[in-house]
Amino acid sequence: MAESLNSYVIAQRQVEEAANLLGLEPHVTEILKRPRRVLSVSFPVRMDDGRIVVFDGYRSQHNDAMGPGKGGIRFHPQVTVDEVKALSMWMTIKCQVVGLPYGGAKGGVVCDPRTMSQGELERVSRGFIEAIAQIIGPDKDIPAPDVYTNATVMGWMMDTYSRLQGTYSPAVITGKPLSIGGSKGRDEATARGCVLTVLEAMKERGLPVQGASVAVQGFGNAGRTAARLLAEAGMRVVAVSDSSTGVYHDGGLDIAQLERVKDAGSLRGATGVSFITNEELLETPVDVLIPAALENVITAENAGRIRAQIVAEAANGPVTPDADAILFEKGTLVIPDVLANAGGVTVSYFEWVQNLTHSYWSREEVYAKLADIIVPSYHEVSDLAREHGTTMRMGAYMIALRRAADAMKARGWV
Ligand code: NAD
Repeated sequence: MAESLNSYVIAQRQVEEAANLLGLEPHVTEILKRPRRVLSVSFPVRMDDGRIVVFDGYRSQHNDAMGPGKGGIRFHPQVTVDEVKALSMWMTIKCQVVGLPYGGAKGGVVCDPRTMSQGELERVSRGFIEAIAQIIGPDKDIPAPDVYTNATVMGWMMDTYSRLQGTYSPAVITGKPLSIGGSKGRDEATARGCVLTVLEAMKERGLPVQGASVAVQGFGNAGRTAARLLAEAGMRVVAVSDSSTGVYHDGGLDIAQLERVKDAGSLRGATGVSFITNEELLETPVDVLIPAALENVITAENAGRIRAQIVAEAANGPVTPDADAILFEKGTLVIPDVLANAGGVTVSYFEWVQNLTHSYWSREEVYAKLADIIVPSYHEVSDLAREHGTTMRMGAYMIALRRAADAMKARGWV
C-alpha cells in the first residue's frame, strides 16, 4: 500500500510509535495525538483593484501544559487545516526536545504572497492577527515567521496586536525586525543549530570535518546559511540547489559567489559548475546531506539510493516514516527536524525572554546560549536512541512526549 503523505497522519503515526515505546497510558497518547484547540477564521481584505477577497486561515494550539503555544505562521496557497495541525504537533515535540517552556502551535493562511502587492500582504497579515487576536498573547501563544512570512510581516502583526491591546506588546510574536525587539542572531539561528548537530554527529561517527563532503537541498534562509557555515568549518560543499536547479562541483562550491548569483535571480545563473537535478542532488555520494527545502523529498521510493552517512533535516518533514525505516536499516544517521532545525525556535525563545525582561543580548551571547542548548540536547537524544536501539527521531519524540506527559500529570489533567 502506498504510504500516506498527509502530514497529520504522519505526525499522529510518529506520536503513537514513540508513546508505545515509552509505554504511555492510552488516554495520555490520545491527548497528545490531537491539538487542544484549532481556530478556523475567514476575513475580508480589500485588494488593490478594489475587490474584496475573503481569506481562510487557521491557528492550531497543540498542547499548553508546559507553557504558552509557540509556532510560525505560514502563507501558502496549499495550506490545509491538517498541515497546520501536524505542524503544531511537531512544534510541541521540537520545543520539548530542547527544553523550552512552550507547547506547540502553528498558523496558516491560504494565500499566495508571490502574486500580492506589499499593501495586500500587509492587509492580509493584519487581518489574520485581528481574527486570531483573542487566542494569542505573550502568555498564551506566540507566533513567528514560517514559509513566505518574514520579519516585515511579523512587524505588522505585532503592531496590529499592540493596537488592539492598547499596549506595546513585542513579546506577542518573534522573528521581528531588530528595531522593535527582534533578537540578534535570529537570521542564522536555524542553520547554526543544524550545523551544531551535524558536527556532533560527525564526532560520534568518527568522521573528520576537514574536507568532508556535503550536499544541501534548498538555498534559502536555512540552506544557504548552513552551506556557508559548513564551508567555513572546513567542509567541502559539493552540491546545492534551489527550486530551479542543482549545481555541483567536486572540489567544493564557492558559496559566497553562489549567494550573489541567487540574490540576482536563481542558481541557474551559476558559472563553473555542473548542473544537476534536485533528485540527483539527494542521491549524490556525500558524507552529509542536508534537505533544507521541502517536506517528503526522501520517500520509500528513493531512500535506498541515498548515499550520505548523515542526513540532517533542516527542513520540516523531508524524510517520510517509511524512508526513515529504510535509512535506519542501512545505517544512515538521520538527525530529525525536531532537533536539527530547533535552533530557530530556540532563538525565538531568546527573543521572547529579551522582550519580557527589556534587556538585549549581543550576537555572541545568543550563539553561545544556542550551543549550550543544542549540543546537550543532541547527546540526550542520541543516547536515548542508542539505549532503545531506535532512530534519533524516536529518541527525540520519547524525550518530548515524556516531558509533556509529566507536565499534564503535574497539572492534574491525566
Ligand atoms: P526559504 O523560503 O528561505 O528557502 C527555501 C528554499 O528552498 C529556496 O531556496 C527555494 O528555492 C528552495 N526550493 C523550493 N522548492 C524547491 C524544490 N522543489 N526543490 C529544491 N529546492 C526548492 O525557506 P527556509 O526558511 O530556508 O525554510 C526551508 C525549510 O526549513 C522549510 O521546511 C522550513 O519549514 C524549515 N525551517 C526553517 C526555519 C527558519 O528559521 N527559516 C526554521 C525551522 C524550519
